[in-house]
Amino acid sequence: MELYKTNQLKIYNSLSKSKEIFKPILEGHVGMYVCGPTVYSNVHLGNVRTFMSFDLVFRYLKHLGYKVRYVRNITDAGHLTDDGTEDKIATKARLEKIEPMEVVQRYSLDFHNILQKLNNIPPSIEPTATGHIIDQIEIIKTILNKGLAYVVNGSVYFDVLKYNETEHYGILSGRKIEDSIQNTRDLDGQSEKKNPQDFALWKKAEESHIMRWPSPWSDGFPGWHLECTAMSTKYLGKTFDIHGGGMDLKFPHHECEIAQSKACNNVNPVHYWMHANMLTLNGQKMSKSTGNYILPNEIFTGENKLMKKAFSPSALRFFMMQAHYRSILDFSNDALEASEKGFLKLMEAVNQLENITANKTSSIDINSWKQKCYEAMDDDFNSPVLIAQLFEAVKYINLLKLGDDTLNEEDLKDFKITIKTFVFDILGLQNETSDDNSSKISGVVALLITMRNEARANKNWALSDKIRDELLAIGIQLKDGKDGTTFIIN
Ligand code: AMP
Ligand code: ZN
Repeated sequence: MELYKTNQLKIYNSLSKSKEIFKPILEGHVGMYVCGPTVYSNVHLGNVRTFMSFDLVFRYLKHLGYKVRYVRNITDAGHLTDDGTEDKIATKARLEKIEPMEVVQRYSLDFHNILQKLNNIPPSIEPTATGHIIDQIEIIKTILNKGLAYVVNGSVYFDVLKYNETEHYGILSGRKIEDSIQNTRDLDGQSEKKNPQDFALWKKAEESHIMRWPSPWSDGFPGWHLECTAMSTKYLGKTFDIHGGGMDLKFPHHECEIAQSKACNNVNPVHYWMHANMLTLNGQKMSKSTGNYILPNEIFTGENKLMKKAFSPSALRFFMMQAHYRSILDFSNDALEASEKGFLKLMEAVNQLENITANKTSSIDINSWKQKCYEAMDDDFNSPVLIAQLFEAVKYINLLKLGDDTLNEEDLKDFKITIKTFVFDILGLQNETSDDNSSKISGVVALLITMRNEARANKNWALSDKIRDELLAIGIQLKDGKDGTTFIIN
């Protein structure tokens, strides 16, 4: 396909604070690292937005013909609670009286399950922090050898002020050194540090800390920022193309990653830093710790007081894609409902494409429309502008249907392929309205619901319960509401 040679993809680089023409290090190849979830609880919709933003990036780069190695880690150790006293995963394990690795397993499964429902393509490599303790220890040794870290009571801290004598700590976040005191209180660590800006590379574990590994300095655990440096370097090299994550990770996490890499390898690790903006709820950042969040499954079932009804994964995905990844997006039932209408309209038009036949001549300039679709995506993955172009296509489809416009065979073929490519391959939407097996399943379940209603009307409770229970056993849950019975497929 070799499309990448003719396109002018521009990416907003948070490091230069400008849109830059994308030039990969190795022609035709892209190395991309995205900070993954800390698997101590169910992913909320805000987390999902960030991962979906990078799924769009991954999909478009692949579409352009690049061979992409996409690495997204799982943080299963080292991410401390906000007060800096305990590992988030260990806290959950203590509260639930289970092993930390049971916490990791449970929420990694939830994460994968949700992303799969939302049709995200899995990364090429998904490494874990606990699987890379040795790599992290090696990096600490190098930084210590260079004199840019120091050991206190079995813990190792990065010497930010020393680093800043020759390098620029704050290059990404724009923070001045005096303002870059990390907000984690890190109570006991604070007194050990030479300066409050310093951050932990290795922490000695207290007696009560169960997640611990041996190291030359103490039985302990690595600092959170280090795992991403270790895993990105290992799988993508000392310098790679794209590093992504949510806006909230810019400081301190990504700033510290840059410092660690420069200290260890003497090179800037990343060419293009990409930051996805936040999903908000009631105007506030969606966040687990403040309780201001909603879970994706609550949207698929409608079981949350914020929701008036259930929505499909593709309607949710469409809602997210209608905002540019660098814009804040506020979530509400009504906003999602408006998106669902648009999504259904688009799908209806896509379904009608098959019925349109070619004419001798074309009255629509398909090439120019197609070019605008590419221009939208080439302009820093501007999915809302792309969607506006897809609605232009919906207008064309309606006119073609009426015979008010025409396309010749070649243009019609191109039009159909382009729409499907952008809708399904690039935006990652799924056609939930097409006349395939899913609509047949819906028909069968509707029939069973009618039969169950008849059984209930005849007071045949054994039969009505059997229908409900056996459907549930195969993963179809009936839900009785005031307007009748609906169902969800789990
Ligand atoms: P965490 O599991 O807390 O490390 O977060 C995983 C990812 O979700 C990170 O890239 C965060 O930046 C991102 N994230 C957290 N909250 C939100 C939000 N409200 N909107 C968008 N992304 C978020
Ligand atoms: Zn990271």
